[in-house]
Amino acid sequence: MFCSWFTSSDHPMWRAYHDDEWGQPCHDDRLLFEYLVMECMSCGLSWGLMMRKREIFRQVFAGFDPARVARFTDARLGRALAADGMIKSRRKLEGMRGNARCYLEVQREFGSFDAYLWGFTAGRTVVYRENLAGGMATRSALSDLVAADMRRRGFRFFGTVLAYSYLQGVGVICDHDPDCPAGRRALRAANVLLCSLEDPPPPPPRSLPRLPPPPV
Ligand SMILES: [Zn+2]
Repeated sequence: MFCSWFTSSDHPMWRAYHDDEWGQPCHDDRLLFEYLVMECMSCGLSWGLMMRKREIFRQVFAGFDPARVARFTDARLGRALAADGMIKSRRKLEGMRGNARCYLEVQREFGSFDAYLWGFTAGRTVVYRENLAGGMATRSALSDLVAADMRRRGFRFFGTVLAYSYLQGVGVICDHDPDCPAGRRALRAANVLLCSLEDPPPPPPRSLPRLPPPPV
């Protein structure tokens, strides 16, 4: 059986996204930036809308090239905002330029965004017991940690719920139904970490300091 929440929509766009992209381990820095932009742009909006806007984003955000987005001038941002079909939020567009600059910083520090992001699980793909039992979480201890670390690095529009969705999309968390063929494909070559939503992530590499717990 395929994941029910994707097959409940008969839109071919959803089906292709489910089958070929969602939850497949992604180690490509340009694609990781593409998903990050879509995730941050989705803040307060739906992922379905982001999927429909994807090609507009591709044009507006220079083919999802973080180095080019980081250099956007205010005038260039203004033109992006005026583009047909673009989400009309200057704050978000400025946020994406800032996020692109933070993204380049992470690449400089860790060698690649891939190394940084997968470092949170020491390269392992997380499968949650609760979701195997039929749950559909929207955050976890891991997404809390990733969102907090990225916010500390200056990323905006990226709270723990969006971080969770991002980690699902790029395959750090695999939330396919247990018997979904796309999920089995995603996990075939993965080093799987079966755990619970509130379990702390595995110890990070030395270069990634663990954050103190948030104040209660
Ligand atoms: Zn699936």
